[in-house]
Amino acid sequence: MLQVRELSKTYDKTPAVSGVSFDVKGGELAVLLGPNGAGKSTTIKCIIGLLNHEGEVRIDGHPGKSLEAKRKFGYVPETPALYDMLTVWEHLEFIAHAYSLKDWKERGEALLTRLDLWDKKDKLGKELSKGMQQKVSICCALLPEPRVIFFDEPMIGLDPKAIKELKLMFAELRESGASLLVSTHIIDSMEGLWDRALVMKAGHVLFSGTQGEVERSEEKLEDIFFRLTEGGVQ
Ligand code: ADP
Ligand code: MG
Repeated sequence: MLQVRELSKTYDKTPAVSGVSFDVKGGELAVLLGPNGAGKSTTIKCIIGLLNHEGEVRIDGHPGKSLEAKRKFGYVPETPALYDMLTVWEHLEFIAHAYSLKDWKERGEALLTRLDLWDKKDKLGKELSKGMQQKVSICCALLPEPRVIFFDEPMIGLDPKAIKELKLMFAELRESGASLLVSTHIIDSMEGLWDRALVMKAGHVLFSGTQGEVERSEEKLEDIFFRLTEGGVQ
């Protein structure tokens, strides 16, 4: 369960996120939509404690910056940040040590195999393409079996097979009761996968609705998105 209340962030006096509040329950996937610069990445970075901010965040009931919260969440950043001189497998070993994981190797192998990385396990971070780095980043985030997971534009740079696999993973994670927050500026990429949609523009959440609410409304999510995000700042 993720709870965000009145989250605000200002970069050098310029507001980037203003008064954002939402919940993502266990077993729910919330899609965070918005054009470039809307504040999606900033929102996620604030929630996970990478950026100082105003407002309150609770991850599985724990304050966002607490160690308990950190143990519970996984984060796949917009741009993968791997270690140049660690191999793919050593990245997983590093995570396993950091989280004091036990009996993780089978799970690590299964994750790498699923994303076609098993035969690359001895390759160094710096030898991987952007897409491969993105896949390693996903494996690292999922290895500790997080209960709340943040994916920032996760499809960018992935090949079609990996996108298909990632979508299956989203469905399985939802099924397992995890809370997922997935940001994207490509609306159709998450079709049929979300329970709640949040539309952001210029740091504000302009729309928040469940799948059922959108289905019952006159408009499709895409229409809502364009109505709210096109034109000047609201
Ligand atoms: P999104 O992920 O939706 O594309 P961002 O959260 O990256 O949007 O950016 C939101 C706003 O904050 C933009 O106006 C962007 O220029 C600004 N911004 C993002 N990162 C920084 C930073 N490190 N310093 C100053 N401004 C930033
Ligand atoms: Mg972004």
